[in-house]
Amino acid sequence: MTDLVKVRDLSVTYPRPRRSGGPLNAVRGVDLTMRRGETVGLVGESGSGKSTIGSALLGLVPAADGTIAFDGTDITRASRADRRLLARRMQVVFQDPYGSMNPAHTVGDTLAECLRYNLALPADEIQERVLRALDDVGLPPGAARRYPAAFSGGQRQRIAIARALVMEPDFIVCDEAVSALDLSVQAQVLNLLARLKETRGLSYLFISHDLAVVRYLSDSIVVLYAGRVVERGPAPQVADSPAHPYTRALLAAAPVPDPVVQLGRRTERLRALAAAPATPAQPGTGCDFAARCPFAQEICRTTSPELTDRDGVAVACHRYEHVMAQAA
Ligand code: ADP
Ligand code: MG
Repeated sequence: MTDLVKVRDLSVTYPRPRRSGGPLNAVRGVDLTMRRGETVGLVGESGSGKSTIGSALLGLVPAADGTIAFDGTDITRASRADRRLLARRMQVVFQDPYGSMNPAHTVGDTLAECLRYNLALPADEIQERVLRALDDVGLPPGAARRYPAAFSGGQRQRIAIARALVMEPDFIVCDEAVSALDLSVQAQVLNLLARLKETRGLSYLFISHDLAVVRYLSDSIVVLYAGRVVERGPAPQVADSPAHPYTRALLAAAPVPDPVVQLGRRTERLRALAAAPATPAQPGTGCDFAARCPFAQEICRTTSPELTDRDGVAVACHRYEHVMAQAA
């Protein structure tokens, strides 16, 4: 079966003045494959290039190198017209839906807008789709007549999901979609996304800085550091027994209910992530994580590690055996 999303060797560069170091290589040589109905989690600290990958998929930033295929079609340089067609199938939910909603438009209009712009549907079908989407996210039909300001953060995130759903897409980029919500509301929205994944056969590229959140929804997880993939594999393996020292630090950073465990992890994390820049001064020379890595040796500072298959998980680390031996 054709992969739904297939990213090969993707690089994205942002222009930057020479005095700030010249162009920024925000994403470097990233591969990512997604089957239909599958959710891939993309995790990494702020600035690691997660949103940039999502934006490249959606055609919001150009690829400097590499290819992006959607359902077997190369969309790396899709035209505006192609993108409009693609909008039926690829949608996005951002962290701050309020920022992307017109406060002067009712929720019903906000949801209908996308349908009117992209699909020439009759008014009654638009109405029907809007009400179905609201129902799917657990909001009453009356929500359509109200304005975004009348809703709580969690409800607004449901509206943002409904706005993506009206197009009846098969793929949604969720970029920090639950990150701004309180833990209990976060859990509700995650449950909603999980249910929609089943009932609508959706695939998500689920982006978050929080490994625990990513773990909940994802079939596989891709860990990004300074624009590169450092670990990639089945969600349980990557999230529960990470191989890369960076993923281990992320796991240590994830909140846990037990305060004693939490404190231990926090200490471990602070030790692992000694204050150092997330983007190395000279990318390409050695492992990007070396300056912050408790396992680093000379080779890590001189030679860039390749992603290598290790028991079903791809890991870019010279010190893999040593790290695993210590974990055991
Ligand atoms: P993440 O989503 O993981 O926090 P981003 O993809 O937003 O990371 O950013 C990756 C890097 O690219 C960061 O160093 C960020 O400052 C930079 N960046 C992101 N967007 C832009 C932009 N529009 N112009 C210039 N630099 C950008
Ligand atoms: Mg981001």
